[in-house]
Amino acid sequence: MVEKVGFIGLGIMGKPMAKNLISAGYELTVYNRSPEKADELAGDGATVAESPKDVAAQSDIIVTMLPDSPQVYEVVAGENGILEGISDGALVVDMSTISPVVTEELAVAVKEKGASMLDAPVSGGDVGAIEGTLSIMVGGDEGDFERAKPLFEVMGKTVTHVGPTGAGQVTKAANQIVVALTIEAVSEALVLGSKGGVAPEKILDVLGGGLAGNKVMEVKREKFLSHTFDPGFRSELHHKDLGIALTAGREYGVALPVTAIVDQMLLAMRKKGWGGEDHSALLRIIEDLSQHEIG
Ligand code: NAD
Repeated sequence: MVEKVGFIGLGIMGKPMAKNLISAGYELTVYNRSPEKADELAGDGATVAESPKDVAAQSDIIVTMLPDSPQVYEVVAGENGILEGISDGALVVDMSTISPVVTEELAVAVKEKGASMLDAPVSGGDVGAIEGTLSIMVGGDEGDFERAKPLFEVMGKTVTHVGPTGAGQVTKAANQIVVALTIEAVSEALVLGSKGGVAPEKILDVLGGGLAGNKVMEVKREKFLSHTFDPGFRSELHHKDLGIALTAGREYGVALPVTAIVDQMLLAMRKKGWGGEDHSALLRIIEDLSQHEIG
């Protein structure tokens, strides 16, 4: 039996992920808070629902791709939420990046309805979502993972069951530490090099060929060099993610000293009104501190 799929949250990531599922032949029921994004998918053959409850009532597997913990909580457990419409045996797959604590709480509430839940956050950005090459890290029951795997394989390339409920979110927090700290390090390298008289493109070329080479330099190259920071991944979302990492670190007794510093830089970006810009605009913080724009 081909599962009927519901999809809630059709933003930068959710819309292309939902489109890929439709292209792969899945029957989709969709919902988004701003309805015009859902209407766009109706043109591709999706059914537009009135509420998350309505999506759940029409679906075997319900995928959510929402900004943060409060939105996932509201969509799952709020008024007209998934829990009000969910059937016995259904599966909720939350692919948003949220707190592992909220994930665990919601998984219990879903289980009380005779259904189950996976946390399946992703990395790979908007390009990975469009191309169906996301890296998907999944927490929850092994059997539920196997059930959702055909969907994951449409949306992603590297699909890994990493452990029980919450483990997907913990893995994603670890991922977000590495990405943020790498953007920060590349930004410092670019500003230092540029102030010292070396062209930024030369710095990226040369560093990219050695041990310092990394994907941030490749994927964000044009954004760094042209200073066009349309997202991509909004810096305010990355600030949210480091908050999740720091809270988890506090809970587990793990020191994350440099994460804490970069968290403050991302907060400063929000305060400067740059929260909607791509996270690579962290370069502007280093430029600002140094009073030097690269190039
Ligand atoms: P986004 O803001 O573009 O999309 C979120 C969507 O959810 C929007 O369409 C919004 O209208 C909708 N929404 C918000 N609240 C809602 C509600 N209560 N009910 C229904 N719909 C609601 O965000 P995004 O960039 O697509 O990110 C989604 C998630 O994926 C976030 O948790 C983010 O951290 C994570 N993520 C993003 C990227 C990226 O590169 N953008 C990469 C990996 C992971």
